[in-house]
Amino acid sequence: MKICSNCFNDEEIKNFIISSSSDIAHCDCCENDDCVIDLSELYDFFIEFTGLYCKDDASSTDLIEALNSQWNIFSSEECSEQILDNLYKSGIIKHGARDKVRYIDDILECTKVWDKLKKDVTTKSRFFTDITSFEWGSFIQPNDILRKHTILYRARIVPDGTDKLTPGQMGCAPAQKTPSGRANPLGIPYLYLCDNKRTTLYETRSVYLDRVCIGTFRTCRDLDIVNFNSVINPFYAFTDGSDTLRDSIKKRIIIDSICKDLSKPLRRFDTELEYVPTQLICEYCKLNQADGIMFASSLHPDGQNIVLFDPKDAKCTKVDHVEINKVTISSTRL
Ligand SMILES: [Zn+2]
Repeated sequence: MKICSNCFNDEEIKNFIISSSSDIAHCDCCENDDCVIDLSELYDFFIEFTGLYCKDDASSTDLIEALNSQWNIFSSEECSEQILDNLYKSGIIKHGARDKVRYIDDILECTKVWDKLKKDVTTKSRFFTDITSFEWGSFIQPNDILRKHTILYRARIVPDGTDKLTPGQMGCAPAQKTPSGRANPLGIPYLYLCDNKRTTLYETRSVYLDRVCIGTFRTCRDLDIVNFNSVINPFYAFTDGSDTLRDSIKKRIIIDSICKDLSKPLRRFDTELEYVPTQLICEYCKLNQADGIMFASSLHPDGQNIVLFDPKDAKCTKVDHVEINKVTISSTRL
């Protein structure tokens, strides 16, 4: 079966096909005339990748969805089905495109690592928690740089009785007045910022007719960041060989769980205990010489949150004042 780069969304696979193709021909899958390779060149990858899943009739996810919803491998459902069926019928992989699957036990186990750590640090031992089950070194090294003069934003709802806020009022509260947050422990201020103005409005949880000040901040130096969004690409992991594909996927699952907790919105009934596990992660990032972290906003999925461990690393240069004039709410049935 000849396949082309249009059959895939995964950038690494697309690049592989384009760079290793020696002829332009008709793609048997998506019917484009383009650079093609024989599907057999991807056999080893698909054997190893689909080998991380096992059949489970109780699962609600079929192989197509498993590979696409989390890994965005194929460009369409039709391409997924054709390619996976071809691999299955040729005896290359063990699961059909529509077989219900789940991760193998070894991978599912890793989802418990973060849960166990959360439990230990909140119920057993706070400051010297046993973290040996977690390969911290490889998880939370700085992997990105925020260049000097990067523009970031931070919003504050204007308190009643106040007209406007000045740049000097847009930073952190003094240490003695700093409450616990998802990233910072009580009394230790970190600077919470976003990469765009709109996200700041979501993150402050502004409501209709709130007056909000949005401060524009500029980073004062190059900053080493642990970027939790750095995508682990399965095909890159497979071809690169520095980690096994299995370990890379475990890493991604654990990082996703940490991000989910980091970006969980604050709720009225949260207790400070809820924040301890993510505060611990930030402490480790600091120990590994990171100046801050970056992770996707759960309140505004297009936006990124940036937390700087030293509030002096970014300065507020100006403040815009806005009023919230529309709020859209949607819901799902529980
Ligand atoms: Zn194609």
